[in-house]
Amino acid sequence: MRKNIVAGNWKMNTDLADTQELIGGLKKIAKTSDAEVIIAPPFTNLYTAFETLKDSDIEVAAQNMHQSSSGAFTGEISASMLKGVGIKTVILGHSERRAYFGEKEDLLAEKVNAALENEMKVIYCFGEELKDRNFGEHFEVVNKQISQALFHLDADAWKHIVLAYEPVWAIGTGETASPEQAQEMHAFIRKTIADEYSQEVADNVTILYGGSVKPANAKEIFSKADVDGGLIGGASLKAEDFMAIVNAF
Ligand code: PEP
Repeated sequence: MRKNIVAGNWKMNTDLADTQELIGGLKKIAKTSDAEVIIAPPFTNLYTAFETLKDSDIEVAAQNMHQSSSGAFTGEISASMLKGVGIKTVILGHSERRAYFGEKEDLLAEKVNAALENEMKVIYCFGEELKDRNFGEHFEVVNKQISQALFHLDADAWKHIVLAYEPVWAIGTGETASPEQAQEMHAFIRKTIADEYSQEVADNVTILYGGSVKPANAKEIFSKADVDGGLIGGASLKAEDFMAIVNAF
């Protein structure tokens, strides 16, 4: 059966001291829900975060990685480098990577393959822009983002995939998709996977919602049948807020 997950994407925030302080704050607050907890600090803080949290139930993930295993790719980080510092999960396809670094489905398919070849778990992000929703094209856009990056995988590989539906218009804007809008899209995503693979694969995949989730709205969003947790940006930078979201299950 699928897991509930709450993952925090710290983006390009927190230096080493901030990381230690934020992790210290997270460890002080009791987890009362069954959700798995993941945090994704910047690359420079992954090792410290992993070492500090290795005996806890908080997992540490990377926010991105390169598709090649090594080579002349200045400034990039590979899956094996991440694994070398204990990281077994990577976020791929975040809308900021798509918008500012031109990442598209063909590249993301390569990154997904590289992560899976290294036995890593992938949190694959996607979501429509406001114009797509206004034109009534949001289902089509999401279908393309999932199918072109992931439908080359065999059914077994889906055990290592977590999906994160993040409508671009709701990220960092304070505007949240309504719980009904989130549920409608999550049900569509699950059906798309059931049609391509099987109901079993679809039922087992965790689908997170992301976009301005806060302590005040988390419970209602997570109460929807096909919403299995959240990918949290801004609110993951405050220990009390993030743990309140974790404990909203
Ligand atoms: C995100 O960037 O993944 C995100 C959901 O951000 P926020 O929670 O700040 O909208």
